[in-house]
Amino acid sequence: MRKKLLAGNWKMHKLRGDTKSFFESLFQSSPFSKISSSNVEIAFGVPATSFETALLATQNKGVKILAQNCHWETQGAFTGELSTAMLQDIGLFGSIIGHSERRQYFAETNANVGKKWNALANSGLLPVVCVGETKSEREQNQTTSVVRQQIDEALSQVTEEARKRDFVVAYEPVWAIGTGLTATPAMAQEVHAFIREELAKTLGKERAEKIKILYGGSLNPANAKELLSQPDIDGGLIGGASRKVDDFSKLIEIALSF
Ligand code: PEP
Repeated sequence: MRKKLLAGNWKMHKLRGDTKSFFESLFQSSPFSKISSSNVEIAFGVPATSFETALLATQNKGVKILAQNCHWETQGAFTGELSTAMLQDIGLFGSIIGHSERRQYFAETNANVGKKWNALANSGLLPVVCVGETKSEREQNQTTSVVRQQIDEALSQVTEEARKRDFVVAYEPVWAIGTGLTATPAMAQEVHAFIREELAKTLGKERAEKIKILYGGSLNPANAKELLSQPDIDGGLIGGASRKVDDFSKLIEIALSF
């Protein structure tokens, strides 16, 4: 059975003091106290300025800290970038890559997402690979072809060896991110099952069954139960609701119920 993963994405939010107080309150919440012997895993993608604070605050708590982006080269003249070696060196568990905001505002391509995936896997870090269609792509019935292309073009940059390492896919319909709109459980399940089938074509059915596919897009305590109960939805990549202790602890409570 695949464990449920709740992965927060704080985007460009929270100063170090906010990071510290967020974790202090989260660890006092009753749902959090039940996760150690459960089937629920927790991770947070935090801004680079909060890496160290988050790592210190979550020591021995079983919470994984992620970056929200990385570069694929080990080092070099790439002003403003962080390599996977640097993320690994500071103690991160992995990185979100290919988030739609990075695709939209920073021209991230499928090929670059694939290079980042490869670099993360080679550094022993977990790639959390985001895919998803825009509103107009969904309206033109292009959802599956867009998602297939995002996965295939990224995977083409990942070596056979790196493909063997663990990774997570996050299906995030772009029209549902930060908008309050959510895919219905049936809509999301359909795409999640499609992604698993696509992965099975390249990696084999047995492996594809083990890969976590998260849903992202306005996931919150009011809609999480139905979404997380779908057979191919293995957790969430959560923006807004991951920044509020109350909401996130309610999400933990819901995830614990499966
Ligand atoms: C996200 O940032 O990946 C996300 C899904 O945001 P939100 O939950 O706010 O829609």
